[in-house]
This record gives sequence, C-alpha cells and structure tokens, in this order.
Amino acid sequence: MAVPKKRRSKSKKRTHRSLWKISSPQMQVCSNPNCDELTIRHHACTHCGFYKGKQVLTIKVKEKKADKEN
Ligand SMILES: [Zn+2]
Repeated sequence: MAVPKKRRSKSKKRTHRSLWKISSPQMQVCSNPNCDELTIRHHACTHCGFYKGKQVLTIKVKEKKADKEN
C-alpha cells in the first residue's frame, strides 16, 4: 500500500480541505429586458428585483447624503 513520504502540515491540510471542489456561482443575464445585469442563477436580481421575468423584490434606493442634510 502506498504510504505518504512526508506528513502534510496543518495549514496545507486546512487550505486543501477549504478549497477542495470550490466553484464560482453560475451567472446569467437578468430576465428583465431593461436591466441586463449579471445575476446568480436561481436567485432574484439584486439590481432590479426580477426573477423569472416577474418583479419579486422591491429594491430600496439609498438616498443621497446631500438630501438628508437639508
Ligand atoms: Zn435585473
């Protein structure tokens, strides 16, 4: 039976385990024809709140600092 020649250090083991089979989320173009942002698949668009061609979220737009001061 093959035996490892050297012991793998704690950090090598931990980095290997944390990164094993890691993959980036699949992205697709938003279903809203007016948006065209890249969104994560099976998630509502974070830009306009559309999912499967419907408005499912209301996106709050931050007020500008100049408006709050006045
Ligand atoms: Zn969108």
